[in-house]
Amino acid sequence: MKYDYLIVGAGLFGAVFAHEAKKKGRKCLVVEKRQHIGGNIYCEDIHGIQVHKYGAHIFHTSNREVWDYVNQFAEFNHYINSPVARYKEELYNLPFNMNTFSRMWGIFTPQEAKDIIAGQIADLNITEPKNLEEQALSLVGRDVYEKLIKGYTEKQWGRDCRDLPAFIIKRLPLRFTYDNNYFNDRYQGIPVEGYTRLAEALLEGTTVRLGTDYLQHRQELDELAEKVIYTGMIDGFYDYSLGVLEYRSVRFETEELETENYQGNAVVNYTEREVPYTRIIEHKHFAFGKQPTTVISREYSSEWKKGDEPYYPVNDERNNALYRRYREMADREKRVIFGGRLGSYQYYDMDKVIAAALELCAAEL
Ligand code: FAD
Ligand code: UDP
Repeated sequence: MKYDYLIVGAGLFGAVFAHEAKKKGRKCLVVEKRQHIGGNIYCEDIHGIQVHKYGAHIFHTSNREVWDYVNQFAEFNHYINSPVARYKEELYNLPFNMNTFSRMWGIFTPQEAKDIIAGQIADLNITEPKNLEEQALSLVGRDVYEKLIKGYTEKQWGRDCRDLPAFIIKRLPLRFTYDNNYFNDRYQGIPVEGYTRLAEALLEGTTVRLGTDYLQHRQELDELAEKVIYTGMIDGFYDYSLGVLEYRSVRFETEELETENYQGNAVVNYTEREVPYTRIIEHKHFAFGKQPTTVISREYSSEWKKGDEPYYPVNDERNNALYRRYREMADREKRVIFGGRLGSYQYYDMDKVIAAALELCAAEL
């Protein structure tokens, strides 16, 4: 055995584990099937613009320990995410707040907004929301639901809002103040030198083999290390023997435009059903870029099939039950530890992934 740990995946989870293990004098080998490190936080430099290749990433957390941790490896800027939503010829601020309600109804005060919402849902008698539609209606009323939620959500998830779990929408703030900050967290920003640099700093001094799929070389790789930290898909690890966990995938249509400022904001959501993409990202605005050109990405949501990138786990009852059965198998493994968002079939933000990795380090190292 040459290594203490074989780490499968050079994403944030694997990189944090590798860094901490190295600090404790353990020898690690990281294998990564892509041709680069960083997992989904990876950014590519296009004419000085950091392009978020696997979807826009905004770091936000209320966890002081995690914030201090990442700040050792990267300096963060003061970006605050404030997306806007386009519905046909109308434009609204997100998340749902007094700016949204004022534009929607021509009103000014929180009480007026609350009265309108209450009036729109009075006859629905929703006490315990059973699905995303009921959850959304009970929070923001029918107008906001119809214009800003229904079409976007059905494009994003490829399912009717009545067939989706309520919790998906709960992660968006709802405020009766004039505040367009998309997150409620204490700390927020984007690494000044980009996310890839952050991953490089974490993996400094650790051997990484790129372009190596663990599942295709399992036997020889297993022989190299005492233990395996696996951050790939949990069902893939077991060759999908109990069935396939469902994901949503995203296709990014990225182009560089000969204009300095295309849409005036990093994130513009297109909430009506008829526009085929869910949103357009203009990457330079995450870093207050002043370059002469710009790079935009249109996001098209799609059902995942084997070979696609798995982005959003579909945490409905069927998939959660299947995951629990895989989890039981995983918990019985003696020398393999499952981690990260694919290993735990959860939509984890970056701060949660770092916290989970640090927790594992505390227990394991
Ligand atoms: P990953 O980044 O997926 O890394 C896993 C790595 O393992 C990958 O590089 C993969 O190639 C590799 N791998 C898998 N299987 C194998 C194998 N068999 N052999 C070798 N290598 C393998 N979080 C936020 O906090 N803010 C955001 O704004 C945000 N936006 C997001 C937008 C999108 C579209 C998505 C999908 C996620 C977003 N996230 C965001 C979440 C964030 O991406 C994750 O929290 C984080 O990247 C997870 O890190 P990870 O290491 O668990 O997984
Ligand atoms: N959502 C919506 N309209 C919007 C933005 C979000 O209905 O303009 C809903 C949608 O169901 C989405 C969920 O809120 O899946 C969570 O949104 P978030 O922005 O967190 O999604 P992500 O950035 O993870 O794709």
